[in-house]
Amino acid sequence: MIYLDNAATTKPCSEAAEAAVKCASRCFGNPSSLHHMGVEAEKTITCAKKTLLNRLGKDGEIFFTSGATESNNMAIFGIAEALKRRGNRIVTTAIEHPSVSEPMKKLSERGFEVISLKPKDHADLERAIIDAVDEKTILTSFMAVNNEIGFIIDTKKVYDGVKRKNPFCAVHVDGVQGFCKLPLHGDTISLSGHKIHCFKGIGALYKNKDTRLLPISFGGGQQGGLRSGTEPVELAAAFEAAVKAYPKNVTVFSALRHRLTEHLERLNRIIINSPENGIDNILNFSVLGVRSEIMLHFLEEKGIYVSSGSACSKGKIGSAPDAFGFSAERADSAVRVSFCGNNTEKEVDTLAEALEEGIKRFRR
Ligand code: PMP
Repeated sequence: MIYLDNAATTKPCSEAAEAAVKCASRCFGNPSSLHHMGVEAEKTITCAKKTLLNRLGKDGEIFFTSGATESNNMAIFGIAEALKRRGNRIVTTAIEHPSVSEPMKKLSERGFEVISLKPKDHADLERAIIDAVDEKTILTSFMAVNNEIGFIIDTKKVYDGVKRKNPFCAVHVDGVQGFCKLPLHGDTISLSGHKIHCFKGIGALYKNKDTRLLPISFGGGQQGGLRSGTEPVELAAAFEAAVKAYPKNVTVFSALRHRLTEHLERLNRIIINSPENGIDNILNFSVLGVRSEIMLHFLEEKGIYVSSGSACSKGKIGSAPDAFGFSAERADSAVRVSFCGNNTEKEVDTLAEALEEGIKRFRR
């Protein structure tokens, strides 16, 4: 099997699996319990939070969640609710994951003015986000790395620019595809375990000390009352282990991308959809004349797993093609290859051979 769909999810690493099992067998108490087992579980949670903060290079707080979808909802609705008296304008982009764009739709239905910027309308999307912020803007929300094509938004540039224009505007970053790969700057940042070789079902929301956030769900008041529910101790231990195991700099990504690009340049009627300065582990391209789904299943028969557009939208075309102004043919034939640190150049060569065969067989 050649797994090249790591932007959809990654294989859990042995470190994460071992940490979860160790924690489940030795440290399975409820962090709210006052006895020794509870205290040990609480320590596990605290330690995991420190490791995540450390990796982000930040002070502040970490809240464990069920994944980045929950983290994004917590941040967006929580900030909107906390700051609605100050203003009702929100700035975002048209290339967000549904876990951001759907909450934005809800806020718009509730009377917020949501400005959604398309890259095709702005040569410099970062500048456009900053320019769209005015004194009534309470929230800016954008992704650090686009999951479909790997487009990068410089979170520091936008963060600093937004704060210069309006220091009261909160900046939320969907950091899912950038965590452990790029520096991330935001008042709140969403993270997901399963994109960095941990399990599905664990994520986190980073929040700096000054940002006000109201809870969106209610219960026993755990995690400072912001995210009620017994903390996922085993999964937090696994998340910590996956973060520790994730290399500081995965040099193989750029070599793999370079090799695949070289192969694609040899084949004709291929358009590379990823920007040249996009993230190295994602390469999205269109094989004109072959529908994505046909190519995806052809590759699958050969044991090669890639994605069409974004896997989160289950076969549906994601938001990026329209927002970047790709033609229907280009969008319909897009293939996303996404690497992890264990992929090899030999796997890329095998993929290229299979693509060539697929093109010969199916191209119209
Ligand atoms: N944001 C981005 C950019 C993503 O790629 C994903 C996962 N596809 C999410 C949010 C949602 O993350 P989770 O699966 O942890 O809910």
